[in-house]
Amino acid sequence: MTPGVGQALRPHFPAFAHQPPPFHYLDNAATAQICAPAAEALLRFETRTRANVKRGVHRLADAATTAFEGVRADLARYLGVADPDEVVLTTGTTAGLNIAANGLRHRLGPGDEVLVTELEHHSDLVPWHLAAEATGATVRAIPVGEDGRLDLDRLGRVLNDRTRIVTVAHVSNVTGTVTDLPRLAAATHAVGAVLVVDGAQGAPHGPLDLPTLGCDLYALSGHKMFGPTGSGALWGQMDLLAEMPPFMGGGEMIRRVTIEGSTFAPPPHRFEAGTPAIGPLIGMGAAARFLMTLDWNALRRHEARLTGRVLEGLAGIEGIRVFGPPAAPDRVGVVTFTVDGLHAHDVCQILDAERGVALRGGHHCAQPLMGRFGLVASARASLAPYSDDDDVDALIEGLDDAIRRFR
Ligand code: PMP
Repeated sequence: MTPGVGQALRPHFPAFAHQPPPFHYLDNAATAQICAPAAEALLRFETRTRANVKRGVHRLADAATTAFEGVRADLARYLGVADPDEVVLTTGTTAGLNIAANGLRHRLGPGDEVLVTELEHHSDLVPWHLAAEATGATVRAIPVGEDGRLDLDRLGRVLNDRTRIVTVAHVSNVTGTVTDLPRLAAATHAVGAVLVVDGAQGAPHGPLDLPTLGCDLYALSGHKMFGPTGSGALWGQMDLLAEMPPFMGGGEMIRRVTIEGSTFAPPPHRFEAGTPAIGPLIGMGAAARFLMTLDWNALRRHEARLTGRVLEGLAGIEGIRVFGPPAAPDRVGVVTFTVDGLHAHDVCQILDAERGVALRGGHHCAQPLMGRFGLVASARASLAPYSDDDDVDALIEGLDDAIRRFR
């Protein structure tokens, strides 16, 4: 792909018009910049059609509810699934994974096992720890190899007939590796377990075809896919959603309430207690629609080329250690590294102050993986479709320069 693909997209992202140069935003895995259609949809809702959803009978409430329910259809299309009612609207991946872990508790008992991976984000670990603690189940992990990929060849050692749930990141927020979901789904289903996927870093890389990936539940965050903060979704097979109890109780998730007890609405409303983040969710729907207009073959080539440049550039600087595999089809533009003699936070601060490069530094909410590599902190650069050669140049030149001075 010719240079400039990312720059050409920048007019669709208001941040680029508002940030003084130099502005090299390479913290997209934490939160990506909002696209204009999402920002406009959010503002339009808040200023023109703001009303509560699912409960009103007046004109505005009707318009708000129609827009809100339309988000399910947008997300269903983006995820490649047929039934919008299988899309639960949430506040983000963390909320989706908590709904999943709580909803699947009844499948767990003493001696049962939840299989996570060594590369999970804390959002896909802690909810399962809570579920295991409450049920007497045990949490085990699929190991990660030296190259930062899941070692699925050792799956047979940890997946067995006590495994009830397998839960895994679609894409690692540390090593950028893409999980072979169809292979994992086949193995999971062969032992009668369900496959839950943390799609926080998978969903931003273009429209998906969840049926071919084979997962049973898939959680994502709107703010990482160019939508507003406070938005997200959990997709689930209807049969599975229907067996899951709600995570939170409150308004609009019930069928009937008496003093003694309550019964619940069917999915997806059962999981949407209280007033949802209506504006952000409407914005997320607009972001999904916008993303579906882009040429993802070209954008994936663009991202692969830039990722190759980042990896090559880092490899050329003495004292930098990169975690994760080399450029490959099963890794995206999320690159984590350490710099000899410099703390990750100092690396981030220097790059920000001197070059306008926004990086992430710390444990990336993945302490088990950091431990696996003997680290407490690392720096991370993460790309988005609007990233381009100027960002990579600023990163590599800035690091090279800083390391020379501090050596
Ligand atoms: N899982 C992964 C892999 C992530 O990268 C993140 C965000 N850093 C999350 C879960 C949590 O997402 P959120 O904070 O939007 O709920």
